[in-house]
Amino acid sequence: MNRFLAGKCILVFMSILFFQSCAREEIRYSPEEFAAAGVRESPLVRVLIIEKSDRVDIDSEVLFFSTENPAGNVGKKFGGRGRYTVAGGGGYVRLIRDGRLITRTERLFVNSSSKGLILVNGKAYRGSLQLSSRNDSGVSVINFIGVDDYLKGVLPVEIGYLDSGSYEAYRAQAIASRSYALSKLEKKKKDNYDLRATIMDQVYKGVAGETPRSTQAVVETEGLVAMWKGQPIKAYYSSCCGGHTADIRLSWPWKTHFPYLYGIRDARTEKSERSFCRGSAHFRWSVSWPGDKLLKILQKSLKKEVDGTVAPFRNLVDLRTGGFAPDGRVKYLDVITDTGKYRITGDRIRWVLRPESHNGAILRSTLFKINVKRKRGKVVRVEILGGGNGHGVGMCQTGTIRMAKLGYSAEEIILHYYPGVVIKEIY
Ligand SMILES: [Zn+2]
Repeated sequence: MNRFLAGKCILVFMSILFFQSCAREEIRYSPEEFAAAGVRESPLVRVLIIEKSDRVDIDSEVLFFSTENPAGNVGKKFGGRGRYTVAGGGGYVRLIRDGRLITRTERLFVNSSSKGLILVNGKAYRGSLQLSSRNDSGVSVINFIGVDDYLKGVLPVEIGYLDSGSYEAYRAQAIASRSYALSKLEKKKKDNYDLRATIMDQVYKGVAGETPRSTQAVVETEGLVAMWKGQPIKAYYSSCCGGHTADIRLSWPWKTHFPYLYGIRDARTEKSERSFCRGSAHFRWSVSWPGDKLLKILQKSLKKEVDGTVAPFRNLVDLRTGGFAPDGRVKYLDVITDTGKYRITGDRIRWVLRPESHNGAILRSTLFKINVKRKRGKVVRVEILGGGNGHGVGMCQTGTIRMAKLGYSAEEIILHYYPGVVIKEIY
């Protein structure tokens, strides 16, 4: 049994154990209730949908049961349709209905008693939920869900709402997103979840994210996973690669360097001039800063991205880029100030050279050329001509959509962006 299958079995086994431990007490659950809790053929994933909130509203035809509270009241069950509030504090979550405290516990499991959905702050989710107190305050919510139901709420949010001519792009995204999600089950974690519902992993919006066409793609590709050496691949993807996907060794030197993420030319052939993603609005772009504005941005952003301390500085002396990768991505950026020189490597450069507009936005990519204008030993203007949008590692989504329109199959698209992998039906 390979590690992945072992991990999958352990997860399913643990889920069964958990539900059995709940069932050992006075409550007995029917097989339908187990099934509704998310124990199914599709491997279970645990998705953090709310990291921390003072209160969470839960609404559905629901069953509640608590576990692991200090009094040992394992398996208490609270039933009934209706609206409940879960509040956190002091290391506990409190279940409240009509202003009345029903129970206080460390962890609360919520399961729809039928095929109904569970509403969390008005948003519908499939599967079941675990609510717990995080860091002694607030409530965190984890959605336990079969990976395919999870993907239904990921696909259109991640690749957009596609027409029928781009359908293979949905299928490719389904295989990539499924592979990525399952690759996260491998890891031994201190966290009690596998995936975040944000760009940190994949954006997941529950039922609100679903569309009929993307759901069809998830169903059609069920069980199909891109594998490398018997493991689901780390199928990273981003919006637009600018013509060449990034080499993980240069963009994310701190991550594991799987060879299927060394970067490829995003075109029919290595020599072809027409990139698949050339139609993107982000294929080529420019951004510029007056020196004093960039100084202010760097005074904030640099200390977060540099290993070690940054001495306070009042002048920006120069910016130098170097070590261009074969695709043109910048390997490092040296920021030279009146108090020191700081080197930022790989993708972290995007968090340092933040654009002036758009609060919180980062530089679109590290595929750029920089032009620094200096006067009397001081930077007065910086211009950047860039290409692509996102980290650029793995599948290029704009390229994927174009390939689909050109008649490539999902399998061909996956093998183009992740060379050397195999696609297997693993469940
Ligand atoms: Zn591309």
